[in-house]
Amino acid sequence: MIISGIQKFTLLDFPGKIACIIFTGGCNYRCGFCHNPEFVLPEELAKISKNFIPEEVVFNFLKERQGMLQGVVITGGEPTIMPDLEAFIMKVRALGFAVKLDSNGNRPEVLRSLIEKKLVDYIAMDFKTSLPEYQKLVGKWADREKLQESIDMLKDGNVDYEFRSTLIREIHTPEILQAMSETLEGANRLYLQTFRNGITLHPDFKNYHPFSSDEMEDIAKLFRTTISEVFVRGE
Ligand code: SF4
Repeated sequence: MIISGIQKFTLLDFPGKIACIIFTGGCNYRCGFCHNPEFVLPEELAKISKNFIPEEVVFNFLKERQGMLQGVVITGGEPTIMPDLEAFIMKVRALGFAVKLDSNGNRPEVLRSLIEKKLVDYIAMDFKTSLPEYQKLVGKWADREKLQESIDMLKDGNVDYEFRSTLIREIHTPEILQAMSETLEGANRLYLQTFRNGITLHPDFKNYHPFSSDEMEDIAKLFRTTISEVFVRGE
């Protein structure tokens, strides 16, 4: 695993658990609004490669935190592109930690294997825009069929999950929001996240804007017509 960082403590990122966060390096998308380009672009990753954290260091840290932390969040970048993700998770679980995985959903085969083997307790999947608009927003690597497969798999309910969508005024038109709510129909839980236009992978996105709090609440009402629980949170 390429481990680009550890956050040693979080009460916010794993519902109901005191956890730490492990960041993997590299991603199969290029979302213009991405706030972590240093964990995504190969040329940026190369610059911080000397700071990658050896697995041994991670597992020594986890052993020291047994009994204090309950869970480990694995995020990216995109963790499902790591060929040894499953083996890594097995080692984390063997230490007694619950595992939450963050994913963009483009590799449903990895999610399926982890769910079937009961290796993850919670999956948070980004749902970034309507499926026909995906490639425009995240790049040519987005695979509409695979995304739909991941969405359907989570909706099947064999693992606890949430979808999360970061909303941008210039991107998420009423038509796109309506299409997104229809695709997620029947899902349990969606978090709508407010866009921040500080550090972004593509410079154009620095000039894009978040919706206001009132607008986010109105959008949440739209999604509540198809999804059981919809929350708004700042990114
Ligand atoms: S926002 Fe997530 S999926 Fe998109 S490029 Fe960044 S790390 Fe990858």
